[in-house]
Amino acid sequence: MNNLLVVNDLTKKYSQGNVLARVTITAVDGISFYIKPAEIFTLAGESGCGKTTTAKVVLGFEEPTSGTILHNGKLQTPKEKVWITEGVQAIFQDPFSTFNPLRTVDRYFFETVQNLKLAVSKGQAIELIDQKLRLVGLTYKEFAGKYPNEFSGGQLQRISIARALLSNPSLLIADEPVSMVDASLRMSIVNLFKNLRDTLGVSILYITHDLATAYYVSDRIAIMFRGNIVEMGTVEQVLMNPRHPYSKLLRDSIPQADPAKRWTTTVTLSELEQEEYLRQGCKFAGRCPDVMDICKGVVPADLDVDGVLVKCHLYSDTQTT
Ligand code: SF4
Repeated sequence: MNNLLVVNDLTKKYSQGNVLARVTITAVDGISFYIKPAEIFTLAGESGCGKTTTAKVVLGFEEPTSGTILHNGKLQTPKEKVWITEGVQAIFQDPFSTFNPLRTVDRYFFETVQNLKLAVSKGQAIELIDQKLRLVGLTYKEFAGKYPNEFSGGQLQRISIARALLSNPSLLIADEPVSMVDASLRMSIVNLFKNLRDTLGVSILYITHDLATAYYVSDRIAIMFRGNIVEMGTVEQVLMNPRHPYSKLLRDSIPQADPAKRWTTTVTLSELEQEEYLRQGCKFAGRCPDVMDICKGVVPADLDVDGVLVKCHLYSDTQTT
């Protein structure tokens, strides 16, 4: 089966500072991954790892410095970005900022139906809107004529997912979609993603710092650190038996007892984010419990360890391909 999305050697650099002290940060550093049809693929890592920048570049909101993005075999160009070519929709972190508080939410739906010419009459539009709302557990009757503040964060996130579904997308790009939703409702949203994958065959690029929901929802996962994918494989391979020291640290930070009560990892953000981005050799060397001399000067290669991509010198002698 052909891959739905192929990201190849993607790099995104930014300049920071002023004329006298300008530094270039490689926010995304030559990463490659693919997403199959009807698959949930997760990019996970702490804040500042490059996962949201990757999503923005894939969506075409930012230009890549280098690398290619193919959607359905078609190359993304400055004119033809995946989100304006057919079948890709984005879901953002804060559902309240998606909708203007002074407009009823149904107006957004009617506008989308009209702009994309999805119905020829108001009755047909209502039927289509109701159909998409039912996929997320709501109905047209419940939402018609209401303003964003009449819904909870969880309901509003469901509504933005229903709106994204209007055009029958093949890929949803969801950037931290549950981080602003009440903890008690997060599972219902991630369950919804699994349902959409299974019933509609839609693929999802799930971006998160939360390994507990990532474990629950993902088919495959890539762990990012300072612009690199440091480990990538099936979710069982990566989270049940992590190989990279950073993946182990993240995995161990998931609360073990009653994970339903707590969904965020407890990794402390590094104060030295910029220093880590600029570090020679392995970017995790400053925090790694297994650091070796070679790590401080030589960038580790992407190694295949039992079918899992691992970017770490510890596995140089055990490479299988
Ligand atoms: Fe640690 Fe070295 Fe592996 Fe980096 S390459 S994760 S510093 S052992």
